[in-house]
Amino acid sequence: MRLFIGEVKKSTGQTFFDLQEEVFSPFRFGRDRIVFAQPVQIAVHLVNCGSEILVEGRLKTVLLLHCARCLESFLYPMDIPFRLELRNASRLTRPSDFEAEAEETVEVRYFTEEENYIDITQEIQEIILLNVPMKPLCRPDCKGLCPVCGANRNEVQCLCGEEEIDPRLAILKKWEPK
Ligand SMILES: [Zn+2]
Ligand SMILES: [Zn+2]
Repeated sequence: MRLFIGEVKKSTGQTFFDLQEEVFSPFRFGRDRIVFAQPVQIAVHLVNCGSEILVEGRLKTVLLLHCARCLESFLYPMDIPFRLELRNASRLTRPSDFEAEAEETVEVRYFTEEENYIDITQEIQEIILLNVPMKPLCRPDCKGLCPVCGANRNEVQCLCGEEEIDPRLAILKKWEPK
């Protein structure tokens, strides 16, 4: 995914709007794989603010995730606002400019005078990863798998759970008169 900055970089105050869509191939994320069920769409608004180009964007896609409880795959739509800063590398002269950057949370990219396109595929992947839940759930009340027989409790009602006693109630049981 590449942003065209050829026009907007020419002078301060210039703006540029762009819509893009790209099919992303799956990529690894820890033990998991991020799989896309739909292309990644971005809408971006670029503003030349002098020493940097500010990118305000919105990213939409649909991932195919696996539920952490029942292990079934499900569709996970994403709609994420994001910000990038593109800085003209040739205008950074003082070392303090580089030091200050370490503090920032906004993604910063540098471009040189000759560059008219900036590849932001990696930044887009990072934005997606930051927004994938640690424990994705197919639905908030997913009942998960039975630890005894492995049945998907969303689909079947197995009988394994009947002996289970709430630990709070178990304490009370000890106090029962004999
Ligand atoms: Zn589930
Ligand atoms: Zn069971």
